[in-house]
Amino acid sequence: LDDSGTSGRPLGAASRWWLHHSLSDLSTRFAKHGVTLILRQGDPSVIVPEVVRQIGAKSVHWNRRYYAWSKPLDATIKEVLTDAGISVESHKGNVLTEPWEIKTGSGGNFKVFTPFFRAARSVCDTWASFAVDIPYMTAAPTGACRNDNLADWQLLPTKPDWSGGLSNAWTPGEDGAKANLDVFLANGLSGYKENRNMPAVEGTSRLSPHIHFGEISVRRIWNAAREKMAKEPQLAADGHTFLSELGWREFSTQLIYYYEDFPDQSWKPEFRAFPWHVNPVGLTAWQKGHTGYPIVDAGMRQMWATGWMHNRVRMIVASFMIKHLLQDWRDGEAWFWDALVDADIANNAAGWQWVAGSGADASPYFRIFNPMTQGEKFDPMGKYVRQWVPEIARLPDRFVHRPFDAPHEILQSSGVVLGQTYPHPIVDHAVGRQRALDALASLKFKPEQVPA
Ligand code: FAD
Repeated sequence: LDDSGTSGRPLGAASRWWLHHSLSDLSTRFAKHGVTLILRQGDPSVIVPEVVRQIGAKSVHWNRRYYAWSKPLDATIKEVLTDAGISVESHKGNVLTEPWEIKTGSGGNFKVFTPFFRAARSVCDTWASFAVDIPYMTAAPTGACRNDNLADWQLLPTKPDWSGGLSNAWTPGEDGAKANLDVFLANGLSGYKENRNMPAVEGTSRLSPHIHFGEISVRRIWNAAREKMAKEPQLAADGHTFLSELGWREFSTQLIYYYEDFPDQSWKPEFRAFPWHVNPVGLTAWQKGHTGYPIVDAGMRQMWATGWMHNRVRMIVASFMIKHLLQDWRDGEAWFWDALVDADIANNAAGWQWVAGSGADASPYFRIFNPMTQGEKFDPMGKYVRQWVPEIARLPDRFVHRPFDAPHEILQSSGVVLGQTYPHPIVDHAVGRQRALDALASLKFKPEQVPA
């Protein structure tokens, strides 16, 4: 663990919680084989060679990482170890394809998802069925090596302990990962194309934190889905959509590989002059789920309580923050980074830049999600918003996504007092939309990027 900030960004609070439980699970698994998982904290370029020396390792293996900060760090560690006569091998661990494996006809990297995924899929579909046995493990002589106590790392929240909702929602570790994959393949793959947009339905795999922390291989997931599709040909369309979501993860990874500052700045240069507003009150209302728009508030509260938010709702809340509130997408990205158990530099930045319109193959900036119609389309019975925003739960379906339009007597009979039990909208939708379009008009876009 290096959370000094020198090896990448320090982990967010929800990720720290996950890491603690994930390492605890891994340590228990190793112990069953008589193997000790060594935990050390500090600068990896010092700690790794030190541990290697202390246990007398002859070779070192690791999975490649693709970030601006990790490339030089891993190269340094490799050099130090190689100079000491240790053999070092890096592997393709946490991706389907290496960023440099999938190239355009002219040898460059793809900037548009569809041709990228077509090329990636043609590589992955050639794989034979994938099954890897757990490697033979034997106890290494760890006696001479210091081993930290996981509890001393203080990854878990204590004052206060806010992790109850996370514990209820998740089982970090390999068993939890396998269980989510099995349940998804049995119940979720069929209908995924439609259901993945409905936040009240358990229509997605919930594998993202398990994938992020390396508890399950993305290649195993890919092949399990393909095997299922081969046996049940009617799943072809749902399966393709699911595989393409794994493809978006690959696409995001290759973006940060080729554009090292992708997590920190708008990919399209025009956006770097965007006239963001300073609005700490609005930002706090958004963070806490008190915007007065039920679908936005539901999403922000789901993430706060469980460390995860449904993808459709991630798009809606991000659009609201960037466009209705004109807040810099990097502030939203930072909030997600702290609150999500699946917080991932590549996927998070790519998700935010997609919504902002500033990323590669992004949603056009002028597409401004309407939080009412999004709610009505994807949560038509209001089940999702009623779960997370109970103060408006008694409103009839037709007002549950727009309490501010409900007549006084309906608000009264539903126990809603706007401004008291539930906030008035912090910004009017039409006003916010026009303000965002005006901000867009101030940028120097290429003509094809602005609305007709
Ligand atoms: P499923 O629908 O079951 O998809 C399977 C897997 O595919 C996911 O576990 C994930 O690894 C990958 N995946 C799915 N959708 C995407 C996508 N749009 N981009 C990249 N990979 C995808 N995902 C993260 O893993 N970490 C993040 O920090 C993150 N931040 C996001 C921020 C915003 C603003 C947006 C719009 C999306 C973000 N996503 C992020 C992508 C997506 O929301 C999550 O991957 C997805 O909701 C995870 O749920 P699931 O495992 O049930 O997904």
